[in-house]
Amino acid sequence: MEADDERRILIRVVRQRLEALRRAGIDRIPMPALPLPAFPTRPAPVASARPVAPVAPVVDRPSVLAAPIVAPPIPSRAGRPATPPPVVASLFEEPGLEIVVPAADRGARLAELARQVAGCTRCADLAATRTQTVFGEGDSSARLMFVGEAPGADEDRTGRPFIGRAGALLTDMITKGMGLPREQVYIANVLKSRPPENRPPLPDEIAHCLPYLEQQVAIIRPEFLCLLGKTAASALLETALPLGRLRGKWHRYRGIPTIVTYHPSALLRNPAWKKDAWEDLQILMQAMGLKSPERKRPG
Ligand code: SF4
Repeated sequence: MEADDERRILIRVVRQRLEALRRAGIDRIPMPALPLPAFPTRPAPVASARPVAPVAPVVDRPSVLAAPIVAPPIPSRAGRPATPPPVVASLFEEPGLEIVVPAADRGARLAELARQVAGCTRCADLAATRTQTVFGEGDSSARLMFVGEAPGADEDRTGRPFIGRAGALLTDMITKGMGLPREQVYIANVLKSRPPENRPPLPDEIAHCLPYLEQQVAIIRPEFLCLLGKTAASALLETALPLGRLRGKWHRYRGIPTIVTYHPSALLRNPAWKKDAWEDLQILMQAMGLKSPERKRPG
């Protein structure tokens, strides 16, 4: 195993442990008290007539490990966070994006990556059954990137992400809800090949394909990410928490403010969840400085 791989694995394990501590309510680790000398180095002070200033109690010894941890604000109906959580030195902060691709080169870099993906056979079953890979589409310098689960039948047939019924709903969320042209955002999936019968992606398939998505995010460097559904949220945020615990608040992926919401397919099956999804989009819109387009009045 390469030293670099070992380092990544170690960082991932430590981060997972720290995340577990944070979920348990522990947000700082005090430094252990310094060892006291075995013997007094000078005689004990003799009581003097001078008043002694009271000594402030030591509450928490500052340490590198106890760097401030700012929990993302939890939105409420009364006051949703207007901005994503600030970037702070934190135990839990993800490493930032390592590569910087000039905006003018991003399209070409994505096209080159798409060519690699088109020939990928890392998941033998998926490569054998797909019609074609579905890489992603949109503005190569988009402010906002949506990430879904995997291509379905329509996407597999056309090579484009989110174009079936769920895609139409996502397009409505972007255009009618957020007031953005669909071409102005970037849309991709965790998996680039369709799982047969639209079954959920297997863990090893996600592991095989995730590096492609990571490269897409690194090239595009969106200001905001919106993860659609549990698969995308679990894969990028490395969490097993249910979607209900993840939505409605800010996360960070590689330093990018990230919102989690329901996958449009889930919204088609459970229309009552659309209200929650709309609240999630509004959190995103507030941070992006977007206003909902004026709705036409009936009649
Ligand atoms: S799902 Fe991703 S990793 Fe697997 S074969 Fe398709 S492109 Fe390759």
